[in-house]
Amino acid sequence: MPRYNAAGAIRVGAVDSGAGATGESGIVGPTHSEGTMTGLPPPHGKDGNLRPLLIGDEALRAERVQEARGLPRVPLSSKEISDLVMLATGAFTPLEGFMDRRDYDGVLADMQLASGVLWPIPVTLAVSDEEAARLKAGERIALVDPARDEVLAVMEVKEKYRADRKREARCVFGTDEVQHPGVVTLYEQGETYLAGTPEILSEGEYPARFVEFARPSETRDLFARKGWSTVAAFQTRNPMHRSHEYLTKVALEICDGLFIHPIVGRLKPGDIPADVRMKCYNVLLENYYPADRVVLKVYPMEMRYAGPKEAVLHAIIRQNFGCSHLIVGRDHAGVGDTYGPFDAQEIFDTLPPGALHIEPLRMDWSFWCTRCDMIVSSRTCPHPDEDHVIISGTELRRMLVDGERPPDPFSRPEVIDILIDYYAGKR
Ligand SMILES: [Zn+2]
Repeated sequence: MPRYNAAGAIRVGAVDSGAGATGESGIVGPTHSEGTMTGLPPPHGKDGNLRPLLIGDEALRAERVQEARGLPRVPLSSKEISDLVMLATGAFTPLEGFMDRRDYDGVLADMQLASGVLWPIPVTLAVSDEEAARLKAGERIALVDPARDEVLAVMEVKEKYRADRKREARCVFGTDEVQHPGVVTLYEQGETYLAGTPEILSEGEYPARFVEFARPSETRDLFARKGWSTVAAFQTRNPMHRSHEYLTKVALEICDGLFIHPIVGRLKPGDIPADVRMKCYNVLLENYYPADRVVLKVYPMEMRYAGPKEAVLHAIIRQNFGCSHLIVGRDHAGVGDTYGPFDAQEIFDTLPPGALHIEPLRMDWSFWCTRCDMIVSSRTCPHPDEDHVIISGTELRRMLVDGERPPDPFSRPEVIDILIDYYAGKR
């Protein structure tokens, strides 16, 4: 199987919608959140509907807020808050809440919910043994953001079950080594999981903190208004340098639109904070991208650093947002040398046919070549490593901390200015 699609072949089979309308017709979709009228792929799952769990009805919401005052309060971790907001917006469609044991076991065993739908990583609500002891199945609880003392949801505990953390670590991360940041997060949380469908009252701090916060129904409407039927998503947790710009522009050559979609949940120590990254993305878009062909929005999840399985999750989420393609580069969602460089691309070849309506756009490692005098990839440049401008993440951080400018072929000067300022402020 070829690793790369030829440019002309990429649209073929990319969109499995009945309507077959192409974007050029300029269809305006006022409430076509399913996207099928526009040629955008349907949301993930069997029925093609988005499933946001935020309560839309004001009277019901007020009732639940009142009820929450008398309920036992369960504090959520930052990861769980992020997941709750993903559920609130429909970004985790078709999940109906925090997983029960059947879904959990199915996801670990063969990446399948009990319904048979593809899902690669458990979405769970963990509590400590003491908390678990005071809560019963059938009981209603309030889910709280402890840092803001805000009730985010009420939920009936459908089931209480024991996590198998070692198995979960191996299945999700391919390792149970505690050096892995995803394993650390897993081992820090409680060993009992509470299953249930949260009735969500609030999306917490994210909508106010990011003007670029957007829900899947909103991006679908936006893409439809723009007349796009193929949209390439770019997942990112870092500032974008020239190599990333190159990947996104290759995608823009073959798709109607580009969706730059940074993850803004809490990251591992040493990563660049979201507000600094947003400045970097915006300065690039203002100066180097066609404004009408790019959308920049954020989503609140936390990275799992689960490599291939996280690539599948990233694809599902982008399909829900209305994208037809996900750019999957070398070592997507990886950390250290946990995964092989192309594991996150090859996993898509193992999925059952029809499990996804979004396709990976498989890209190789890219960098500046001083002899080609342009950004190239391992697939396009014949020259040896000495001709390539390659700076590791660690080396880049050292340069910026020291106030040293990385070479111009590595990154746009506007981006470097922002990063130098950020590190100077930390000193
Ligand atoms: Zn070259």
